[in-house]
Amino acid sequence: MTDGPTMPGDRIAAGEEYMPGPGTYERDGAIFAAVMGAVRFDDAEKTVSVLEIKRVSQLRPGDVILGEVGNVTNSLATVAVFGLDETGRSFGAGENGAIHVAKISEGYTDDARKEFRIGDLVRARVVQVTPSLQLSTKEEKFGVLKARCGRCRGLLSGKSGKLWCEDCEKHEHRKLACDFMAFTPEARNK
Ligand SMILES: [Zn+2]
Repeated sequence: MTDGPTMPGDRIAAGEEYMPGPGTYERDGAIFAAVMGAVRFDDAEKTVSVLEIKRVSQLRPGDVILGEVGNVTNSLATVAVFGLDETGRSFGAGENGAIHVAKISEGYTDDARKEFRIGDLVRARVVQVTPSLQLSTKEEKFGVLKARCGRCRGLLSGKSGKLWCEDCEKHEHRKLACDFMAFTPEARNK
């Protein structure tokens, strides 16, 4: 016999019917859950236990995320994930993922630093969640949505199809998403 997920402190059985098993405790003649999990009644042994549900990443392969580029090295860009693109659902703590240089674009890229800079807003697809969160910006809808100047960190404009910093008066290059600059999270969330 099984029952749904239970929270710590939930009363799950009467003490005279069952003995407390793993993940439970007994108090005042009743058995309570000590952990969040699934309740298991063993009627042969007359015990009740709670199988703990481990906290795992809320992300799944195939999810499309929004995040901010952190450190960028020759071989990868780290991304602080702050939400799912489709739903706008955000994560409290923010998970860190990585875009390997081979997963940046369809074409050949020899250096991640040519495509991303610290502070860029990116849309990426989740390709792996364990043992580490791996992201991809292949395909035209993925890549940079807002770019920050590598020198002054100001937002770059998309003037005449090239990224341009007004203050530094210089062009930069990125792996851009097809809707670069048109993207506004506010509009998406309505
Ligand atoms: Zn600048």
